[in-house]
Amino acid sequence: MSEHALIGRRVNVLDKGWIELVDLMPHPDAGVSGDLAIVNAARVSFLGESKGGERDKALLFYLMRHRHTSPFEMVEFKFRVRAPLVTWWQWVRHRTWSFNAQSGRYTPFKEEDFYVPEVWRRQAEDNKQASAGELTGPEGEVLSRDLVAFYAEGYRLYEKALQMGVAREMARLFLPGFAVYYTWVAKVDAHNLMHFLHLRMADDAQYEIRVYARAIYEHFFKPALPWTAEAFERYVLNPTG
Ligand SMILES: Cc1cc2nc3c(=O)[nH]c(=O)nc-3n(C[C@H](O)[C@H](O)[C@H](O)COP(=O)(O)OP(=O)(O)OC[C@H]3O[C@@H](n4cnc5c(N)ncnc54)[C@H](O)[C@@H]3O)c2cc1C
Repeated sequence: MSEHALIGRRVNVLDKGWIELVDLMPHPDAGVSGDLAIVNAARVSFLGESKGGERDKALLFYLMRHRHTSPFEMVEFKFRVRAPLVTWWQWVRHRTWSFNAQSGRYTPFKEEDFYVPEVWRRQAEDNKQASAGELTGPEGEVLSRDLVAFYAEGYRLYEKALQMGVAREMARLFLPGFAVYYTWVAKVDAHNLMHFLHLRMADDAQYEIRVYARAIYEHFFKPALPWTAEAFERYVLNPTG
């Protein structure tokens, strides 16, 4: 896929979420790929320029292997993301991103703005923070029905408060907090995106953020930066020693 086609591309995540690439630096119109922008930045160290395919790729791999990270900050991704608050709660801990969020004080929420999981995961026994396995059969179906009924009741009370003239900023106290979907704009450079992906694609990350990280990696990062992704997999994600 060409870098032009990546901009504006939207990928669905979870039941009602999505990620869209709004902008990329270097922009495809600049005529230099993201990988080459990284290599060219590194060559400034000794005032050189691109030396052609194989040598450029070898330099990029050298940078990744030796954690020479600043050239990777020369590439930037800007996304629009719709995700439930349970995902944002973890995402905003990454201080190297820039965010701008939809305002629940300004925009009223709609009834379908809540996350309903496809499956209920069981509490892991060996890790207090993790899940392991799934609840199957009627138990899961009952929980899903309960959850939807809970959302409907919260939303009914939210609307009731609005109708009584309560400000949106207060009426939202009735909404099921972790489940509500918000849309954000989120910008990050490739170095800090790799840090995020390393942590949030890992098995110990919560599923509801892992699927966003995985979607960013597969649908945007890899096609935009194929050499960088290859080096990232070799030296960071799956190092062999
Ligand atoms: C599986 C998992 C479980 C977690 N559990 C918890 C939990 O129980 N409780 C909890 O509070 N958090 C938890 N976190 C969040 C975690 O502690 C980090 O806040 C989060 O992953 C962001 O990582 P970061 O600070 O490296 O990233 P960023 O904020 O993007 O920062 C990137 C890097 O920049 C540097 N940096 C950025 N800001 C500063 C600064 N002010 N001072 C010094 N260096 C800085 C650091 O080197 C940092 O690694 C968890 C994260 C994961 C992945």
